[in-house]
Amino acid sequence: MVQGINAKDVILKIIKSIEENKEWLSEIDGAIGDGDHGVNMAKGFGIVKSGIDSVPNDFSKLLNFVGMTLVTNIGGAMGPIYGTFFMRMGKAVEGKSVLEKEDILRMLLESLEGVKKRGGAEVGDKTLVDTLDAAKKSYERAINEDRDLREAIDEMIEGARKGMESTKDFVAKKGRSSRLGERSKGTIDAGAASCYLILKSIGESLKEYI
Ligand code: ADP
Ligand code: MG
Repeated sequence: MVQGINAKDVILKIIKSIEENKEWLSEIDGAIGDGDHGVNMAKGFGIVKSGIDSVPNDFSKLLNFVGMTLVTNIGGAMGPIYGTFFMRMGKAVEGKSVLEKEDILRMLLESLEGVKKRGGAEVGDKTLVDTLDAAKKSYERAINEDRDLREAIDEMIEGARKGMESTKDFVAKKGRSSRLGERSKGTIDAGAASCYLILKSIGESLKEYI
């Protein structure tokens, strides 16, 4: 199980990862979108950073705060989608000071359901749903095989990476890049990439508290 989480540190590490990869995310978005994904994400998470001390250092409350801040501050498609992603994750661990394997599965499951419902994207539509769904499936498989939590989290991160990579071969069905039709093939999706960074960061942080 995961216990004694310093939730603020977990969130700060996500912010750092987004900041460090801002150019990369915008570059990917530039190939089939309008090239602002890194800027949008960094702006939203910058506002999260400046408000983080106003929130109790509690994992659920902080995830909810991230979601609320992103909904109101990220422009474009991603505000409501990442807002839902983080708020649903927060709700999944409400009132928990210790996280069991199942709690982490519920975080992935709830955020996936929320994002699919909010944006209407399914697996294969070349969005962050591809990353999140693969992460959830890999994690679920690992815990069903009774692997230890550390390994299951590594599987989750590897699943997220493969999910992100899978978007390269897909035709975009949602958002700006869907206008390109077949021409959207051949490059990974920017939202799928930021989702990989976020899940990787959360996974690596949680492993520190096992
Ligand atoms: P915009 O498209 O408004 O410029 P961003 O560049 O910040 O916004 O985000 C683009 C990303 O949004 C895409 O790479 C894709 O992953 C994601 N996206 C767009 N529409 C949807 C949707 N309906 N459901 C899920 N994700 C979506
Ligand atoms: Mg864009």
